[in-house]
Amino acid sequence: MKIFCIGRNYVNHAKELKNPVPKKPLVFSKFPTSLLKDNQAFYYPDFSEDIHHELELVLKVCKNGKKVQPQFAKDYYNEIALGIDFTCRDIQSKLKEKGHSWEIAKAFDNSAPISEFIALDSLADKNNIHFNLKKNGADVQIGYSKDMIFDFDYLICYISQYFTLQKGDLIFTGTPEGVGPVAIGDKLEGFIEGKELLNFDIK
Ligand code: ZN
Repeated sequence: MKIFCIGRNYVNHAKELKNPVPKKPLVFSKFPTSLLKDNQAFYYPDFSEDIHHELELVLKVCKNGKKVQPQFAKDYYNEIALGIDFTCRDIQSKLKEKGHSWEIAKAFDNSAPISEFIALDSLADKNNIHFNLKKNGADVQIGYSKDMIFDFDYLICYISQYFTLQKGDLIFTGTPEGVGPVAIGDKLEGFIEGKELLNFDIK
């Protein structure tokens, strides 16, 4: 199983980290050992002092495919979940300065809490999905999927030019603005269209 992640897919998030708005999707990856399921607690690792939450919509690939053409992209996903792309911002900043890759900052064990999947067809408007993250009961990130620079179909086409998509692969589709630090003792709750899907503690 492959886990693709898209960086800087919302204009206002690219701006908050003072990154340029990309002309093509920025693709990086996590590993199956990055996933943290069933709302298990996230244990703050000792190698970072500045871990940020990035709330993201996650697509599950439902069909194998290579070089998918735009008119067929919709056939490759039908379920969605909420995920957190935990990022060691302190480590990432140093890696970025040197132009090095981000795996240690992004793909460490349990860096990707993920909710159960729900059918896209169960949503009122699957073309503009509203999702939000609460930290200790207060909204910190609010997103609308229509604000993505590269939409779901585009990502399927783009990624599959380079990597064969396989059933069960996941795509973390990028975070809206409002990323910020988490601390031991925090509670994170994530919602799609008001339905609570994520609810876990930082320990
Ligand atoms: Zn992210």
